[in-house]
Amino acid sequence: MLISILIRKPNLQSDGYPEITRGELHSFLESKGHTVASNPYEPDINAELIIINAQVIEDIYYSLIDDILYRTSINQVICIIGNPVACARDFIYEKYRRINAIIPGEYENVIINIINNIESKTDLKNIIGIYKEKKNLPEQRSININYDEFPMPDFSYLYYDSSFYNKICYLTTSRECNGKCSFCEGYIYRTIVNNCCKKYKTADRVIEEIIHVNTAYQQSIIAFSDDNFFPNPEEGKLRAYELAEKILSKKIKIKFILNCRADNVDYEIFKLLKRAGLMKVFIGYESGSEAVLQRYDKQISVDSSIMAIKTLNQLNIRCDCGIIMFDPWTEIGELRQTIEFFKKYEFQMAVEWNGKSILHMAGHTKLRKMFIDQAKASSNFIFNEDYFHNVYKGFIPYPFFNKTIMKIYGYYMNNLKKINMYDRKNILNNTLELLERAIVEY
Ligand code: SF4
Repeated sequence: MLISILIRKPNLQSDGYPEITRGELHSFLESKGHTVASNPYEPDINAELIIINAQVIEDIYYSLIDDILYRTSINQVICIIGNPVACARDFIYEKYRRINAIIPGEYENVIINIINNIESKTDLKNIIGIYKEKKNLPEQRSININYDEFPMPDFSYLYYDSSFYNKICYLTTSRECNGKCSFCEGYIYRTIVNNCCKKYKTADRVIEEIIHVNTAYQQSIIAFSDDNFFPNPEEGKLRAYELAEKILSKKIKIKFILNCRADNVDYEIFKLLKRAGLMKVFIGYESGSEAVLQRYDKQISVDSSIMAIKTLNQLNIRCDCGIIMFDPWTEIGELRQTIEFFKKYEFQMAVEWNGKSILHMAGHTKLRKMFIDQAKASSNFIFNEDYFHNVYKGFIPYPFFNKTIMKIYGYYMNNLKKINMYDRKNILNNTLELLERAIVEY
């Protein structure tokens, strides 16, 4: 079957992990005997199946689907996949009747079943793993391929993209994280896939992949874009140790970056990783307030975050940080603690961070449910089907329970445009100072 995979942004720099997921999907489908056309702009008009890999909600909001639907024929089956952070939202089915399936979480078997049903001209509606009822998660499903057994990612469709050949190559090594954060959609979707298979690649496989992209695509700067490079704390440490040792013993000349949790930072392991080429880490510290970390079920204390920061500073490893300044329950004391925490230590912000630091209450997460329950009991919020869509589109204000925080947030957002977003070195301090001014104002 001819299958068309759509790439919204061919720029690997800013949109890495969807590309590698597409790279893996591309080679996975080819390994099943299908012809795959990956294209950044237009669906292949001869394809029977069009797959849109929309990793983040913005992929949907920025009219991606309108654009694609305009170019497709009524006979083409259109699926949206979002892995690991599913972007699928209730309103998509409502608004886009031409979308045939939305698949959150790991998708290989579901896609294969869809292909079988297209070939046998059978309805897709009984396939397990597809969003059916908009309010429910798909049924639990199994996967039957060890992550080590995936074919090597195919990046040949990126031949036109100079950012790929000149800069960073995104690879994935794991689909696990031991965290259970109450805002994390990835965590929810991990729970609907049975853990029947190995969901992280061994050090040997990761080395094989590094050598593959090194020789086939001349890549020497690697971004491991897993949610968490340490799939689970102990095995993750052992794997990291083994991987670093192998990179060093094989004299592989690479630089790499990775994402992890603060409690994964261990002096000896990170020292070795640095020798092997680690140059940057991303950690979602989120907040400097213990109460907020508890609200997020982060299972990491402010002290553990500080320990991670100090270790990385000691080893001179740059750390980009994740920060959530505002959520519906935010209180002034929490904001102050967050300002103090982030001002005290030196942080860099990820390139796409723009100061709009609000919690996204993603579908099916514990915090979204908690918000809905409380908001429905309050007379200040009027719900309809598109409530969250309208919040994130800015059609209705972000909902705060505390009225003063609403004003502080309004002041902060109105003045954010005065901050130079290209001044990456000072952007965090500048926004924190703005937040301080907003608090003083109210
Ligand atoms: S640590 Fe990150 S990936 Fe893991 S559950 Fe929390 S937010 Fe999700």
